[in-house]
Amino acid sequence: MTTTAIIGGLLVDGTGADPVPDSVVVIEDGRITFAGKKNGKAMPRADRVIEANGASVMPGLMDVHVHISLSAPSDLLKEMTARPVGEAAFEVANNLADTVAGGVTTIRTVSDLAHLDIAARNAIAQGKIVGPRIHPCGKGLTTTGGHGDIMPCWLCQSHGDISEMVDGPDAIRKAIRVQAKTGATWIKLFQTGGVVDPHGRIEAEEFMPDEFDTAVSTATTMGLPVAVHAHNKTAILRSIRAGCRSIEHGMHFDEECAEAAREHGTFLVPTLTVMDRIMVHGAQAGIADFMIANVRERTTKHHEYVKYAYDIGANIACGTDAGSLLTPHGSAGREVVQFVKCGLDPVQAIEVSTRNTAKLLKATDVGTVEEGMLGDVIVVEGDVVSNVRVLEVPGNMRHVLIAGQEVAAGGRAFRH
Ligand SMILES: [Zn+2]
Repeated sequence: MTTTAIIGGLLVDGTGADPVPDSVVVIEDGRITFAGKKNGKAMPRADRVIEANGASVMPGLMDVHVHISLSAPSDLLKEMTARPVGEAAFEVANNLADTVAGGVTTIRTVSDLAHLDIAARNAIAQGKIVGPRIHPCGKGLTTTGGHGDIMPCWLCQSHGDISEMVDGPDAIRKAIRVQAKTGATWIKLFQTGGVVDPHGRIEAEEFMPDEFDTAVSTATTMGLPVAVHAHNKTAILRSIRAGCRSIEHGMHFDEECAEAAREHGTFLVPTLTVMDRIMVHGAQAGIADFMIANVRERTTKHHEYVKYAYDIGANIACGTDAGSLLTPHGSAGREVVQFVKCGLDPVQAIEVSTRNTAKLLKATDVGTVEEGMLGDVIVVEGDVVSNVRVLEVPGNMRHVLIAGQEVAAGGRAFRH
């Protein structure tokens, strides 16, 4: 039996409870056996004691909108055509390391090249590389010319894309079966254009109603939850009513959407980080003006509706769009800060990004630091309640533990 004790930190356990100063967290054989106030707790004989004075102790962060085969370029097409799939695979290993270095212990991937996300999950499980827990979508499904159809026609045949181009119910059914066969545990659908599309089809939908219904009923019948990239209200409401589990981005998500989402238990994953990165760093990185304008025009409302959704009790989860434009892997701490910008307090923002995000994944033994949960715990330099921005800096992650095993420290992942 291996016992680790984390002593003296400010415990923010992810349940929304008041922070506990001078705390003790005990992890025995990968599971948490105690989390709470130090006094009164008879200390077990620990194999390892982690001093957490001056630090915060909290659940590992979660990011449910990640493209692990992309590396945060300023131009997605340029990155994807600049390297063969084999090189992308090595980048995936680096991106996984950056993910855990940023304090992120669980991710969901939402469309990746050549099923590299599934390969990564398997390689981590076999102990070949270091990385977070992964809930993979494999390739997203998009229509011909849809938002996920990034490569021009003359390249996608030879190179592949992060999505599968499918048109018509039969092709959609088959594509979902292929994703499941490959090992995907989620299905991602692209149902509208995006803020960065040169053709600007944010207002339109991509799958026809019969195609969309086929996709959702096939996935649901097979036990695969559906995540939908959707910006406009028609697409958002269609997704919610059809029983999809999460709405990705949702720049035009409003009161009506929030109420429908609450009624159906749908999660909003607003990916505030990628929007912020485009606004703050886009011009300098050479991102087209219309993309920056698209984001800027909608951001204030987007933030207001995230707060509205939170206040009425609709589900929100933490997803950054890591890997996509200018958004580094291991950025979930940035999303926590964005939730605070929307008006949540830091304890609420952490709860959304840990316990509530675990709920989206139906992951019942991660997301909080409580007795019985797996030991996915981070020790963060400073006080996350009075200065939540400490979470933005990977170097502040003093210790990152997955099931009690240290996988990263001080902003660097350990190599096997
Ligand atoms: Zn994305």
